[in-house]
Amino acid sequence: MTVSEIFKTMEYGTAPESAAEAKAWLDRHDSTFGLFIGGGFTKPGEDRFDSMNPANGETIASLTEATSKDVDAAVKAAAKAQKHWAALGGAGRARHLYALARLIQKHARLFAVLESLDNGKPIRESRDADIPLAARHFYHHAGWAQLMEREMAGYEPIGVAGQVIPWNFPFLMLAWKIAPALAMGNTVVLKPAEYTSLTALLFADICIEAGLPEGVVNIVTGHGPVGAMIAEHADVAKVAFTGSTRVGRNLREQTAGTGKKLTLELGGKSPFIVFDDADIDSAIEGIVDAIWFNQGQVCCAGSRLLVQESIAERFHDRLRQRMRTLRVGDPLDKSIDLGCIVDPVQHQRISEMVALGVDEGADMFREETSLPENGCYYPPTLLIGVEAGDTLAQEEIFGPVLVSMNFRTPAEAVQLANNSRYGLAASVWTENINLALGVAPQIKAGVIWINCTNQFDAAAGFGGYRESGFGREGGREGLYEYVKPSYLKSLKDAAPVTPHSLTEGGGEGIDRTAKMYIGGKQARPDSGYSQPIATPKGKLISHVGIGNRKDIRNAVEAATAASGGWAKASGHNKAQILYYIGENLAARRGEFETRLREMTGVSSKVAAGEVEAAINRFFTYAAWADKYDGQVHSVPLRGVTVAMKEPVGVMGIACPDEAPLLGFVSLVAPAIAMGNTVVAVPSQAHPLSATDLYQVFDTSDLPGGVVNIVTGPRDELTKTLADHYGVDGVWYHGTQDGSAMVERAAAANLKRTWVNYGKAIDWTDPAQSEGEEYLRHATEVKNVWIPYGE
Ligand code: NDP
Repeated sequence: MTVSEIFKTMEYGTAPESAAEAKAWLDRHDSTFGLFIGGGFTKPGEDRFDSMNPANGETIASLTEATSKDVDAAVKAAAKAQKHWAALGGAGRARHLYALARLIQKHARLFAVLESLDNGKPIRESRDADIPLAARHFYHHAGWAQLMEREMAGYEPIGVAGQVIPWNFPFLMLAWKIAPALAMGNTVVLKPAEYTSLTALLFADICIEAGLPEGVVNIVTGHGPVGAMIAEHADVAKVAFTGSTRVGRNLREQTAGTGKKLTLELGGKSPFIVFDDADIDSAIEGIVDAIWFNQGQVCCAGSRLLVQESIAERFHDRLRQRMRTLRVGDPLDKSIDLGCIVDPVQHQRISEMVALGVDEGADMFREETSLPENGCYYPPTLLIGVEAGDTLAQEEIFGPVLVSMNFRTPAEAVQLANNSRYGLAASVWTENINLALGVAPQIKAGVIWINCTNQFDAAAGFGGYRESGFGREGGREGLYEYVKPSYLKSLKDAAPVTPHSLTEGGGEGIDRTAKMYIGGKQARPDSGYSQPIATPKGKLISHVGIGNRKDIRNAVEAATAASGGWAKASGHNKAQILYYIGENLAARRGEFETRLREMTGVSSKVAAGEVEAAINRFFTYAAWADKYDGQVHSVPLRGVTVAMKEPVGVMGIACPDEAPLLGFVSLVAPAIAMGNTVVAVPSQAHPLSATDLYQVFDTSDLPGGVVNIVTGPRDELTKTLADHYGVDGVWYHGTQDGSAMVERAAAANLKRTWVNYGKAIDWTDPAQSEGEEYLRHATEVKNVWIPYGE
């Protein structure tokens, strides 16, 4: 064939990568593996399973199914190693992390080939994306280890981290989990996915080669139940999971009330929005990357194409044309675009989902011709004419399947983009920077790529909103997932506070009932019932409404209605209102002191101290309102990656009984300072300081609905908040059982929670009760990637 003929047909030859080195490594292990525990491999277990190459169905290794004894041994090894590892100090750990990073680079090709053999992803991707990014993670976090003592002052390691990862980016996910955990002084027990354990086992070899202390990293292989065993082990203090929303929800329920710190990086149905002024050629290439990278088996895959109607036909034509040139083939062939689906089970799932979409009326396009005969291949597929409520517009397919919908206006694009229970990522394509930067904050997602897609870096946090999970991986924001505040260990159990009973009958003949506060107005309880609040000596002070589910629902509705406006109010504006609240509280300090004395029986001095601290706290968060800035991350991109702090949304806050005024203010003030709207349940025993506050709010220009107060049975009301799909986050200060209840209930829509596990905060100690920790829990970090240049 002549060169000019080749140019005419654009035929490619094959360019296979050799698998010899990877096979030699497998041979060195007899292709049979035990577990990596306490710095060495155990003997292969009796119960084993096969790992196969999806490109040809051949078995490449026999792996051990870990037993509960094995998991226990791994956790014990990690626990034993942890003290010494933490004691090495940041600089000592940094050396080890640098060594691991360097060895990953040294063996990069072996890692890449083994990954492609085991997972079926194109070698081009494992070689150029997965493995370099994994090395980058270790380098970056070596740096964080070095800086930990200074940059993370007041925080300490959590202990043993149990980590469960999926099969779509086996080694990259390992790096995302292990590097920050180790940097912050934790040790780990990691379970790779059953389909793709080999690069984790190769990493075990690297740990030996790097001289990593025994037990710092432990790797146990097996199926889902092994993941569950790790998560439920009593000595595991942190669980980090990436995978399906179903398993994420299980883990939320399983760990509820245990005090284990949890991060979940779950599924997505990320929108890829193309406006009519987009650079069409770039957007088409963007789609190739968004949905056909890794065969679409990507949690943040741009699987929902939203195209502006005026260009939709032309755009789809161009897309079909581009799809005709995509090459599907042997993962080790360097000249293919798509490799294999990881396993026949996944292949079948994708086929079933696509059949369902066609049944529901979608118009399917794909180029059938060029699939290899054997192996687990699925062609790039486009489904047009999908409606917003159709299964395929809502469910994650996790394959090379793009569904497309049209929109007319930017507002409609945002509405469609947010019409999902997920919120992981989004791509926005337009040459109009105002439009792009106007749309980005409106999309509920943890990552927004403007005129680009699938950009990742260790310096920028990654993670989702809503059912895409919570917590971030990467960036400074990701470090906090692997540390805990040092003050926690000194906290004591909160002593139960019981309401005073009314022993002196009658009151003074006037009806004094503190109302609830909903949407900026006083509200009577739906139940029509109230309860007396008495002094320690049993004298009636006032009645207070007994709120119920209906009141909570009304309050959530009011908070939701106020949410958009309050979130958009400038930091300066919020600061002014918080200062004003502080001033108005100061003007009435005498009344509040008296109320505290009457209700709780504390001395004048203690009451005065509490009121003063509450005033000061409003001033503190007024100060913070325009200063808790985001960051511009330093990522390898010609452009900027802006980590914006956004409000969590509508928050439910159950307030403590101890310090009934200061506790309430310490929780509500940071939440509203960051732009959240709040439904607060005040102290059940001593609610009147909170209900008194609404007179202060009313005179301080706080918009109606920003703070709503529902009095009554704290745990019952909080359960309704934790169950409510319109509530984005719940903070709870109460009992251990109440904390477990909140975490369990939150599993339904995976809302963020922050609970006290029955421990008492000293609300007068600013080190425990105010500051950035509170602001962090009141915000989501959204990373917006903005490349620049032509
Ligand atoms: P899973 O969520 O089941 O798997 C992820 C990891 O969790 C694996 O290591 C798995 O083990 C383990 N696991 C399974 N069950 C439990 C459990 N009860 N407790 C603790 N760990 C458990 O994902 P699947 O592999 O089943 O994929 C199903 C769907 O999930 C995909 O089609 C896709 O939609 C979604 N998914 C999303 C990912 C993401 O990155 N967001 C990644 C992978 C899948 P094992 O491998 O042995 O099952």
